Amino acid sequence: MRVLLVEDNELLGDGLLTALRQENYAVDWLRNGNDALHAPFTEHFDVVILDLGLPGIDGLTLLREWRKKRLTVPVLILTARDAIGSRVEGLDSGADDYLTKPFERAELMARLRSLLRRSHQGEQQGSTIIFGNIRLDTANHTATYHDAPVNLSRRELALLRVLLEKPGRVLTREQLQQALYSWDDDISSNTLEVYIHNLRKKFYPELIKTLRGIGYVASDGAG
Ligand code: CA
Repeated sequence: MRVLLVEDNELLGDGLLTALRQENYAVDWLRNGNDALHAPFTEHFDVVILDLGLPGIDGLTLLREWRKKRLTVPVLILTARDAIGSRVEGLDSGADDYLTKPFERAELMARLRSLLRRSHQGEQQGSTIIFGNIRLDTANHTATYHDAPVNLSRRELALLRVLLEKPGRVLTREQLQQALYSWDDDISSNTLEVYIHNLRKKFYPELIKTLRGIGYVASDGAG
């Protein structure tokens, strides 16, 4: 597995490099945002670890540029503690997950494994998304739970699809609301909570976990 590490802090970068190599990752380490702009397109990487505060082009701008150019590699952003705003902005810009500094090595490795599992498995079979005991048929707009049909409105289906398309990915309020906008342009701000409530009730309460101030993530823990 090949990792692109973009981090300007020598001490942190060095620690990450050592830790990742010990886990048998091949690591390319860049310390400057300018160098990182084209890097993920010139070589194949399985995952990118991206610091946000960088000399040259900053991390958020890099991420937006990469996604604009349709880079699909999963990106884990490193953010400062208490910087909820930058976490949300990062996720809105196309990050798949985030880690708050300082972090435990074990947590970083677990997040990487999870990102890689997601991007390599692809639980999608044709038009059907399988997530735990939920099957969502995106062509016929139907869903089942433990093989029993679940009656969902079009908006509930749209929301479920966004959550399950990249399971485990943290999604911000705005990203989820966009899934609903396609059906109605003037939904009120609390409508999202109503649909989330409905989905939890129709499937199981832990299906959609709330990350306070950040967003939501699908969980198959109890399903
Ligand atoms: Ca930095």
